[in-house]
Amino acid sequence: MRYFTLQECINSDTAKARGIDNTPGAEHEAHIISSGYRGPELNKAVGGSSTSAHCHGYAFDLVPTNGKMREFKRFCRAFLADKAFDQLISEKENDQGVPNWMHVGYKHPDGVRQRRQYLSMIGGKYYPMTN
Ligand SMILES: [Zn+2]
Repeated sequence: MRYFTLQECINSDTAKARGIDNTPGAEHEAHIISSGYRGPELNKAVGGSSTSAHCHGYAFDLVPTNGKMREFKRFCRAFLADKAFDQLISEKENDQGVPNWMHVGYKHPDGVRQRRQYLSMIGGKYYPMTN
C-alpha cells in the first residue's frame, strides 16, 4: 500500500506558478491521510465495498492526529460545503455520532459523478449524516 506524503497532498501547480504559499497550518497538518488507494486484494482484506472509490484512487480515509473525531467530522462537512465531491462518509459511528474515521470520495468509481452525499455508516449501514 502506498501512502501519500504531506508534500504530495499540498502540491499545486497553480500555487507554484503564482508563487502562492500553500503550506498548511498546524491545524491542517494534524489531519493525516490513513488510507488512499486500495487494490482489490487490500480492499477485500479491509472489508471495503467491492465498488469502493478507493479502488479507483478517488477516495481517502482521514483521521486527525489529535484524535478529536467529532470536531473533525464537522470540519470535513464545512470544508466540503462549497466543493465538488462524491461522498463524505462518517465511518463506523458510535451511538454518540462520533466516527472512527472520515471517508472522502472525490469521484464516483465511474470517474464522472460527484453526488455530494453526506452519509453516516452505523452498524454496517448507510444513513443521512448525523450531527
Ligand atoms: Zn474510505
